[in-house]
Amino acid sequence: MKYLLQRPHSDELTTSALLRTCRRFQIRISSLMKTLLGRKWSPGLLQFSYVPAVAQAMLLNPEDVLRFHSVFSYCTAFFSAEQLERTKLAVIGLRSSVGLGAVVQSVTQYTPYRRFCPDCAREEFLRTGESFWHLSHHLPGVLMCIPHGRLLSETDLATATGTLALIDALPHELPHAPSLRRTTPFTRALTEQSLLIIQSESPLDGSASNYRLRFAESGLISGARPISESRLIRWAQDRAGNLENIGLSAKDLDWWWLPLMIRPRPAAVAPAFKHAILRALLALSGSDGSKLDYIPSGPPPSDLRERDHAFAVALRDLRLGSSQAGREIGVQGALQTIGAWNSFRHMRSRYPELADEARLLRSPSARGKPVAGATLHPHFKRSGPRKPKIAAAAN
Ligand SMILES: [Zn+2]
Repeated sequence: MKYLLQRPHSDELTTSALLRTCRRFQIRISSLMKTLLGRKWSPGLLQFSYVPAVAQAMLLNPEDVLRFHSVFSYCTAFFSAEQLERTKLAVIGLRSSVGLGAVVQSVTQYTPYRRFCPDCAREEFLRTGESFWHLSHHLPGVLMCIPHGRLLSETDLATATGTLALIDALPHELPHAPSLRRTTPFTRALTEQSLLIIQSESPLDGSASNYRLRFAESGLISGARPISESRLIRWAQDRAGNLENIGLSAKDLDWWWLPLMIRPRPAAVAPAFKHAILRALLALSGSDGSKLDYIPSGPPPSDLRERDHAFAVALRDLRLGSSQAGREIGVQGALQTIGAWNSFRHMRSRYPELADEARLLRSPSARGKPVAGATLHPHFKRSGPRKPKIAAAAN
């Protein structure tokens, strides 16, 4: 029986080749797996923990089966060399496959149902009398068949089986139902970037520093300045549109996870799907003049100098006018009068000329009463003896 196993076609999932074998010999996949593994088991379409036994029976190299006929390369594309080695050992080495569930789930959670391209299925059926389930069509960000330029159809057949046997239907037997309503530049870029991830021969750099470099190369940020998280999210939303259709979980639709991928600190490895989304956004960005630098609130520095000077002049005029009229004026009151109080009390260091001018108002009788909770700048700290409370309140 082992020698009658169907070998996988180019871009076919190993489990799909097993299903074709089952159909040919009219047996259930659990019986086939019992012959191969020594125990009854029905794998999910995207599982690969049975690869060593199956590769041996197909007379194929297990590494090749993993690389070209399973989602393994996609799941592990952004792993560190050490993490990749550990995972590979768990799959095809002597160690147990403990922990692989999370690796497979990093794909199945975004691709819960089997997908196919109706044109691929028709051509395969005409050529061989059957069709098969493609590896590339089951990568989370792949929403269309690039060779045929059409959207993939999504079936109601789950990719994970749970306790159920894997249904042995093939794509050419199923109705067409596109998973998306239409393609957009973003869905196309996402498909292309997802395919690049699985085609890469070496591990990919998904570090925050690498992404920051790419943002800088695209002109989106300048140098070492921090990235504004709100601008980043707005930028992503503008390019990607509504994420609801691409299979991202509901909890991820507001993009909270995106700034975490760019923050210069170690973070848990994001699933490859999120890397594909970020790469698609970067591939689309072009030079549209977007700037994602974090900019502190308030006017830009050049305007600040002018404002500082204008406020200082206004305060001097007010001080001289009050002095001529024989009136005393408090610092806060004076700053409120010239409209500088709110700017000045939050950003004192940015108004040096105004601060110098305000210092001239310092006299016990001219000082204004500070607002509750506000901290006075050292320039305005009392130097003399405290006035009685009643006198301050009367001011
Ligand atoms: Zn196709």
